[in-house]
Order: sequence, then structure tokens, then C-alpha cells
Amino acid sequence: MSDKKGRVFSGARPTGRQHLGNYFGAIQNYVALQQDYDCVYCIVDVHALTTMETTENIRQNTLEMALDWLAAGIDPAQSILFVQSHVPQVLELHTYLSMVSPLGKLSELPNFKEEVKNHPNNVNYGLLGYPVLMTSDIVLYKTNVVPVGVDQQSHLEFARETVRSFNYRYQTDVLIEPQMKLTAFPKILGTDGKAKMSKSLDNHIEMASTPEETTQRVMSMLTDPQRLRRTDPGDPDVCNVYSLHKIFSKPEDVERINRECRTAEIGCVQCKRLLAENINSYFAPYREKRAALEEKEDEVWDILADGAKRASAIAEQTMIEVRDAIGLAPRQRA
Ligand code: ATP
Ligand code: MG
Repeated sequence: MSDKKGRVFSGARPTGRQHLGNYFGAIQNYVALQQDYDCVYCIVDVHALTTMETTENIRQNTLEMALDWLAAGIDPAQSILFVQSHVPQVLELHTYLSMVSPLGKLSELPNFKEEVKNHPNNVNYGLLGYPVLMTSDIVLYKTNVVPVGVDQQSHLEFARETVRSFNYRYQTDVLIEPQMKLTAFPKILGTDGKAKMSKSLDNHIEMASTPEETTQRVMSMLTDPQRLRRTDPGDPDVCNVYSLHKIFSKPEDVERINRECRTAEIGCVQCKRLLAENINSYFAPYREKRAALEEKEDEVWDILADGAKRASAIAEQTMIEVRDAIGLAPRQRA
């Protein structure tokens, strides 16, 4: 490892283009942490399979995610950017870690219960093991810090417990307990104003959308449910349009919207129009950069291939130590 403070790892599922929640909850930290850490960022395609009924979009979504991250500022000259299935050691580690992963704990995790609700006809073994695979991703790269949104908190706690169980079971210190790193916006709500913004709930606003698509999504957002008529006063504290203004609008505009919403001087339509404009100007340079990268698709695949090579070297070294710690017979006689 270099003279940096340690290693960062994070991943996201290629289930669609990245949205405001991904950006403010995770990607901002991915970019910022590159300064001080060795960073490894992974497009977790195997994780995506756990809830997919068809894989027809997975290759395209893998590319889209690489474009999203590169345009947002992940620098492949500094950081490793790769596709999970290209480094299969993670699947081997997943099997070893499954031996110290209690079934009762996995089935009680909130994300599992939520996914069971969302996909009642596809509750598979892989879905139950999702946190074991996520732990494998993290520890395979000897990760110190994991930048994620708050929805991943129980998975991070699971990862830490699994590291302790593995190290205790095999009397080793080969695996490292990771720390979670949140941004200032660890949970962005969706256009429904209720659930976490998620690709799979289709309540999201993509960073890479056109200005028109963005405006359309913003105009469909639910606001204060008590404000039925234009003349009713609203409560910005229960309105997700207002929460997003706090991110995208100038402080004096946020203050004015807060005041004018409460006195019904400003209506929801006008308030949303202003938000859409501000989101569009915020992401304009990003969208320009992304469009230029789209023209260089081959270069993006090359970046991912190079990332897989660099990731594999770290992964294989960890696996040599892991197999030895478990006590498996060595592959080569000394
Ligand atoms: P899916 O619906 O397929 O699970 P997602 O929208 O939840 O997709 P992920 O790929 O699961 O996105 O998450 C990628 C990263 O973004 C994770 O670190 C996650 O914690 C973070 N994240 C996702 N949604 C939000 C959100 N609404 N607010 C803050 N962070 C988020
Ligand atoms: Mg998710």
C-alpha cells in the first residue's frame, strides 16, 4: 500500500443510472476520499443478480455506472474502478465467510426483510447471503473505510461482526474491521416524499437525465400532503421539495421559500420549477463531461479491465492469507 491513510472500498449495483441519493449519500465521499486514501470502487454486478428477473440490461448498466462515476470525478489514475464479477476471488471468500454467518441473523436484517417485501416471488439463497457477499467485497481489499448511505448501516455492522467471528474462529487477525463513512446527506428521500430514493422503487432523479426529464420528475414530486389548495399554507418541514432546495438552492432562496410556503405566497408548482432549474444547473458540467465520455466507450471498458487487474492482485494476496488462516492444505508444496 502507498503512504496514504488506508484503504477505502465501496460498491453499487448496476441496476440503473445513478441518482441524487447515490450522489449525495455516497459518490461525493468516493471522490473526496481519493485525496487521502487508496480507493477501490466496484460495480457490484453479482449483487445486482440477487433481485433481477432478467439480465438483459446488466452490461449496459455496468457501462452507465462507470460513466456516472468517472464523470463525477473518480480518477482511474489514482483509484481502482472495476466490475465485481471480474475478480472471482470474492466468490470464494463469500463461501468461507458463510461458515461464520448465522442464518438467524441474516434473515432478521432489515434490508433482507424489505427485499422480501419488494420481491415476494424471488426470495432466493443469494439474496439472503447478500450481506455475506458485501462483507467479502469489503474485507477482500483489507478495507479501513466504507463510504455508503445510511441504508447500509446494518450491513456494515454485520460485516464488522463477521470479521470478528472469522478472526476468532480461526485465531487470526487477517481480516480488518471496516468503519462506515457517511456524508452530510446519508438518506435522500424519493419523489414520493416517503421512501429512500432508490433505482428499484422508480422514485429517483438521475444525475444524467436531460433537463426536461429532470423537470418532469421534479414536477411529479409529492409535497406537504396537508396542502390541498394553492391558498393553503404549507409546512416545508414535511416536504421533500424543500429538503432538496436545502441542497441545491442559495441560502437566501431557501430562507425565502421557507417563509413564503408557510404563508402560501409561493405555490408548489413555482417552488418545484425553481428546484428543477437549480438541479439542472448543478449537474450541467457533470452532464457535459459524461456526454464526452460516452463517445469513448472503448476507453471506459479499458479502464474497467485495468481496474480488475489491479484489484485481482490485492484479492489474491488476501486469499493466500485467508486460506492459510483457515488451515486449508497449501496449493503448492514449499
Ligand atoms: P437499488 O434500488 O438497486 O438497491 P439504490 O438506489 O438503492 O439501488 P444502491 O446501488 O443500492 O442504490 O446504492 C449505492 C450507494 O448509494 C450505497 O452506498 C447506498 O447506501 C447509497 N444510497 C442509495 N440510495 C440512497 C439515498 N436515497 N440516500 C443516500 N444514499 C443512498
Ligand atoms: Mg440499494
